[in-house]
Amino acid sequence: MSPPPPRAVLFDCDGVLADSEMMVNALVAEQLTELGWPMSAAESRHTFLGMALPDMVPRIEARVGPLPPGWAEEISALIAHEMTRRTPAVPGATEAVHAIAAAGIPVSVASNSGRVELAAKMRSLGLATVFAERVFSFEDVDRPKPWPDIYLAAAAACGAAPADCVVVEDSVPGVRAGRAAGCRVLGFARETPAGVLAAHGAEPFDDMAALPGLLGLPG
Ligand SMILES: [Mg+2]
Repeated sequence: MSPPPPRAVLFDCDGVLADSEMMVNALVAEQLTELGWPMSAAESRHTFLGMALPDMVPRIEARVGPLPPGWAEEISALIAHEMTRRTPAVPGATEAVHAIAAAGIPVSVASNSGRVELAAKMRSLGLATVFAERVFSFEDVDRPKPWPDIYLAAAAACGAAPADCVVVEDSVPGVRAGRAAGCRVLGFARETPAGVLAAHGAEPFDDMAALPGLLGLPG
């Protein structure tokens, strides 16, 4: 038997609503191809999955020689700029948000990204109106994920007790934050394997189109 529909649904942004990984890998692949290491976005993802930019530099230099000074800073700025200009959506994600809101369930977004960047992503995804003032950046709380602060704030903004909320997350720190807040967590297994998300207390799923059904809403 599926549980009753939640009192609110609290969404992570990157990897859940915004397909940021795809854009970052496309940019990295483009840059490395220019530097003499031809690769596709898929190859970039395979090569650098889960690596922060500073950790990528020695690996790249081993292949193409010394990088121009400030290369990492430049590509980081380029990624931020691209993201605010045009944010690709995770397939089915915006449709799922609209379906949940249309069912009368409050929705909120809670992200470890900065306030300005997050607001730009919401506008770019066409979700600024549906999330309205229930948009929380790490800058809005004392402690970022994996601390529960941001999900507690999001639940409060929806007027719901955390135990009656469902969090939708795709990363281990995010799942930990949602569980620490006392929420049921659905783990979108795209970049992180389902078993890893489950080990941290999430119920894994891999298709955004299935989300309304998982929340007990009529399909
Ligand atoms: Mg995420």
